[in-house]
Amino acid sequence: MSVDILAIAAHRDDVEQTCGETLLKMSSLGHSTGILDLTKGELGTRGTAEDRAREADAAAKILKVSWRQALDIPDGRVENTWENRLKVARVIREQKPRVVILPYWKGRHPDHYTCSTLGYEACFLAGLAKLDLEGKPHRPFKIVYATLYYDIRPTFVVDITEQFEGRMQSLLAYKSQFTDQDAGRADFPPQAEIRERVVAMASYYGMLVGVRYAEPFLQKEVGLVEDLMSIPVKSI
Ligand SMILES: [Zn+2]
Repeated sequence: MSVDILAIAAHRDDVEQTCGETLLKMSSLGHSTGILDLTKGELGTRGTAEDRAREADAAAKILKVSWRQALDIPDGRVENTWENRLKVARVIREQKPRVVILPYWKGRHPDHYTCSTLGYEACFLAGLAKLDLEGKPHRPFKIVYATLYYDIRPTFVVDITEQFEGRMQSLLAYKSQFTDQDAGRADFPPQAEIRERVVAMASYYGMLVGVRYAEPFLQKEVGLVEDLMSIPVKSI
């Protein structure tokens, strides 16, 4: 049991909002994908943790994700503790991803930015041979950050023009969150507006590279080029 690409996020539906279509695209390229949600969503204004578990399963099917699990870290209290790092490191050892997608390390919601450093440090820990933790040491080769929740220029984007409708469906699978209702009306846009917003963001990132829709990412490392003739994205 293992996945090629593992997306780690604080809340069920974060991955759907920030990098769901990229996961769908990677699975269409033949890579196996997984999602680790750190919390179960028991503090959400709308719906219960059970509703969200059901919805997360439905969304995972739409995104063709082969493995998905939620840890028991308390919602609204994602802390970068030794214990939490071990919980995530255990999953890294078990799932052995080559690529890990984390949220960007700045943001409005503390759970989101804490998930970023917690995830990074867990990836490091998972590779330590002498760490007292079940499973064989494993460290992902690559860590990339999904930046959609934060206003920062990405270092690369993934063209998700073909996957766009899948992403919309996976988001709307969270019926407890995105169906129009009284609870949380001040914090959630009406459903009709959600599509408009998602289209606007995906079009903006697509426009930066000359495709219709794209999802933004950031990598800390410098990019490597073999052949100048094959660098994508027009300059002029
Ligand atoms: Zn979230």
